Amino acid sequence: MKKVIKKIEELAEKIGRDVNLMEVCGTHTQAVARHGIRALMPKNVHLTTGPGCPVCVTAQEDIDAIVNLSLAGIPVATYGDMLRVPSSAKATEGRPSSTKAKEGRPGHIVSLDDAREHGAKVFSVYSVEEALKLLKEWPDLVFFGLGFETTTPMTAYAIKNGLTVYSTHKLFIPAMKALLKIGELKIDGFISPGHVSTIIGVAPYEGMGVPQVITGFSAEDVLVGIYMLLKQIKEGRAEVENEYTRSVRKEGNPAAYKTIFDVFEIADGNWRGFGVILKSGLEIKKKFSKCDAKVKYKNILDKVDFAKSRRPTPCKCGEIIRGLKEPKNCPVFKKVCKPENPVGPCMVSQEGACNVAYRYEKQ
Ligand code: SF4
Repeated sequence: MKKVIKKIEELAEKIGRDVNLMEVCGTHTQAVARHGIRALMPKNVHLTTGPGCPVCVTAQEDIDAIVNLSLAGIPVATYGDMLRVPSSAKATEGRPSSTKAKEGRPGHIVSLDDAREHGAKVFSVYSVEEALKLLKEWPDLVFFGLGFETTTPMTAYAIKNGLTVYSTHKLFIPAMKALLKIGELKIDGFISPGHVSTIIGVAPYEGMGVPQVITGFSAEDVLVGIYMLLKQIKEGRAEVENEYTRSVRKEGNPAAYKTIFDVFEIADGNWRGFGVILKSGLEIKKKFSKCDAKVKYKNILDKVDFAKSRRPTPCKCGEIIRGLKEPKNCPVFKKVCKPENPVGPCMVSQEGACNVAYRYEKQ
């Protein structure tokens, strides 16, 4: 590792200007913090966090929709972290009228967890297989499906097997392109996501015009990825390189990728921090509409006041997701907002920048 760090230092000195490298995978966010990699960087190499945490990028409207479904008596299952993301619903609007206001949160905000405490049927699952098992007892169950190309094939499999899903699944490449197009932050290179790439392969990253290295998750992987990016920058190249060859094949996993499009079609996707990104979302195809919660429970969803979802909050997750702010720039970070009392999703998820900074970084 010392050798790689030395090479990074030499390259950074030769480049001689500030360089922003963005990691766009929640597991990289954790790896960078856990291994103290930020502290090892030369002064002119800045590591920023992008939109790689699936829980964090799920739009407030979708959180509010699923919480409202649970409050309306529909059984809901999803992955653990998502249960604690605050919605915009107030306790008095739903069944759990005794939900107490939590310190620092504006009003009586209700998460799926809060709803469960007060009688709603909400299940935490580790996999879609668990959700499929729950179907036997709870035939109306809705699975809140989230994540990128890595998790979507399993959701597609579950839909084929009769599970009703509220889809917030997303495609990752459009978000990277959106970041570049918005241009709020000069991004000199992407530490590109290892997990997503196992499914989509290398080609979809081509043509963005910035250096990219698909990188693994050990300290050495991340450092080598950074070295490869700096080498491209120094040599004036903007290529897609693959450091994570032990897991990522050039062609990805075509069978898993195909499964996604058996069931889903590309639509515009709603992202926290971005709003709608064209052709970045995955909606369930009409032929599976019996398993589409947005169709099945349209009558309930039509009554949700989504204007509330768009009300401003003190949470800076949106800017953090776009790499414009760090958790320490948020006025409530560590004061009110803590893992045990999260104000926003970036503090809920183990992959969220605020949660990771809270656990690993001295502020
Ligand atoms: S610390 Fe993070 S999650 Fe908490 S309010 Fe601030 S930006 Fe949002």
